[in-house]
Amino acid sequence: MNRREFIKNTIAVTALGSIVNLGTGADLLYNTKAESEKNSERNIPKMQYRTNKKTGDKISEIGLGSAYMFSAGMDKAVKALRRAYKLGINFYDLAAGDGASFPIYGEAFKEVRKNIFFQIHFGADYTKGTYGWSLDLDRVKHSIDWQLKNLKTDYIDYGFIHCQDELSDWQTYRKNGIYDYILKLQKEGIVKHIGLSSHTPSVIQQIMNDVSIDMLMFSVNPAYDYGKGSFANGAVDERAELYRRCEKEGVGISVMKPFSGGQLLSASQSPFKKSLTIYQCIRYCLDKPGVLCVLPGAKSVEEVEKLVDYYNQPEEALDYSVIASFAPIEASGKCVYCNHCKPCPVGIDIGLVNKYYDLAKAGDTLAVEHYKTLDKKASDCVKCGHCDKRCPFQVKQSVRMTEINAYMNKY
Ligand code: SF4
Ligand code: SF4
Repeated sequence: MNRREFIKNTIAVTALGSIVNLGTGADLLYNTKAESEKNSERNIPKMQYRTNKKTGDKISEIGLGSAYMFSAGMDKAVKALRRAYKLGINFYDLAAGDGASFPIYGEAFKEVRKNIFFQIHFGADYTKGTYGWSLDLDRVKHSIDWQLKNLKTDYIDYGFIHCQDELSDWQTYRKNGIYDYILKLQKEGIVKHIGLSSHTPSVIQQIMNDVSIDMLMFSVNPAYDYGKGSFANGAVDERAELYRRCEKEGVGISVMKPFSGGQLLSASQSPFKKSLTIYQCIRYCLDKPGVLCVLPGAKSVEEVEKLVDYYNQPEEALDYSVIASFAPIEASGKCVYCNHCKPCPVGIDIGLVNKYYDLAKAGDTLAVEHYKTLDKKASDCVKCGHCDKRCPFQVKQSVRMTEINAYMNKY
């Protein structure tokens, strides 16, 4: 694989153009009184947070990738990052496309460092200016020192085992002492938690068997999940199994490439020859078990605002069930938790009930507990068949509800 592709970001930047509607109660979100007044009639989206079960960190559902931030230049990029912070984004990945990004983040966040989280990658080498991939311990050490200095920080929230797409990478990584180096920094309090980035489910499964991680950075989108695109590693079921394992073990997923490098946003570039919106893609990722945070790219205030405008979208605009029309045969009959089949006349949250069921079958005992707290359960299904007719993925949900009820009754 071309390691430079690793950081190819999540979005065709030009696809993010328009300014969002911003809104009431906005005063605290703007730098100046004039800005506040200008935006007072607009609708400010409210960021949502998810808790990393392993670390307790409350992480914004929308974070930011950093691949292209450097190309905006210092002033524009600092403004974009500060706007992101004010809109509630607290999670920032730093697998940057260029070393020039680091001083930008350092400048933008020097006064609020303790309120945000950085994902920093052990193996992303910026010693030559642009991004490089390295398994050499000395280069990794040198690059990490350089990154911390330029970020104006002395600690790393999530220290990442970087870009392990083949098992041989992992063997070399350990042999060369890079993983031990992360552990050493963790003992010293410099690294708070450990993460792993990879595009390959089988390699991730092996590394998760070998060592404990607190966060996974993985490429999630409908194209890769359905076997299309350069990082579509792993079969449909293999990828779904990985999501469930992460949820079960409390390993939060931060999502890279949620738009498949922008391809999914353009009918001419999409492998499905149909475009999705950024909001459909974000919802798709956030519906996957284990996912805490989506990391699209942005490099201006307007692009940041457009991302966060996700929270202003009506439910219909987030419905991604159109992907059923290009799902491969092996995805047929499997619930993706999209809730396109709503409304259920008795009020069952069909997507959530199915998610808990799949997680329970994967051994997630917490999912059973969550299921038991639901107001409406599979036992409430009156077999009206509405969801069967509505589901574009050919899930026979009325039959499945009987199956779910029988399974959950065992606990
Ligand atoms: S049954 Fe079908 S429409 Fe309903 S949540 Fe599952 S996949 Fe979506
Ligand atoms: S078949 Fe059951 S789950 Fe589906 S809509 Fe009817 S009552 Fe709800």
